[in-house]
Amino acid sequence: MDLSNVDAFERIKNKFKNNGTIEEVLVPAHKNITESKIEENDSKEVIEKESSNESSNEIKTVNESNVERENEELDLTNVVSLQIEETDDPVFKYRIKIRDKVIEFRKWKVKDRKDFSAAQGSLEKRKALVYNCLKDPNTALDNEEYNFILEKIRAVSIKDEIGYNLQCSNCGKKFSLYVNINDVTDCAFSDYHPIEVENIKIELQDVKNRDFYESAMKVVKDINEKYITDFALHIKSINDNNSLSFQDVVNFILDLDIDIYEKIFKEWDLIRFKCVNLQSVICPHCNKETIYNFNDFPGFFPKSWN
Ligand SMILES: [Zn+2]
Repeated sequence: MDLSNVDAFERIKNKFKNNGTIEEVLVPAHKNITESKIEENDSKEVIEKESSNESSNEIKTVNESNVERENEELDLTNVVSLQIEETDDPVFKYRIKIRDKVIEFRKWKVKDRKDFSAAQGSLEKRKALVYNCLKDPNTALDNEEYNFILEKIRAVSIKDEIGYNLQCSNCGKKFSLYVNINDVTDCAFSDYHPIEVENIKIELQDVKNRDFYESAMKVVKDINEKYITDFALHIKSINDNNSLSFQDVVNFILDLDIDIYEKIFKEWDLIRFKCVNLQSVICPHCNKETIYNFNDFPGFFPKSWN
């Protein structure tokens, strides 16, 4: 398995063979931690589609609400392009590896739509969209890993490029852009290593129990609480104690001094798996290069599923 540590940022930049400056960068900061796509779908935030007389493809007008712009320095040192590999399995034909976790998956089938439609609540929908498509349906994924695999399943299931209407922030002119979902689905993470701050040592691991993880994440609504819950469920031991309950771990985190907490979470933010949906775009009118965060995919689901 080739982890293919391609520097995705260089790849993004080289894609357009242009040396323009990058001023607008969109960072998936931890505050944006995954309201998963399926939860968005639950809340009826169905992606709007605009008709276009130029093409039969569906086009999304990108605006401030779905392409956030932050003038922050983006640390892309941990960004990698994980390549989809082909397996010998006749059903689960695709494989991707996140750290030591090998995930083999298949395309969506007609029956997935049936299960998706019949699903009661977001957990069942999540199952229909991703877990039913995994060779090992007991695989536990955290929210970001889930979204990543969902995007990869979509990429192999539907080859259509997704159309966007963009407006250049430099010259103000509009233009259309078609992107392949696989090209804008990168990720950032580093290998698990202990976080050591002052006299605290925290060892990390993958999420172990899918049902427990999903139930715990579903209960908490506040974005910061979700972040803490997600972190707690990646903790293997604190100061070599690996027999702490989930609640013990949460209580430990809540009881940290704020300066220690900030240091620990700065480390965790570099380690944890994050989807990165960045693509460099050159304005065809003025050649200004902008990096957009394509985290919103119009026509994400097959047309027949609507
Ligand atoms: Zn322009």
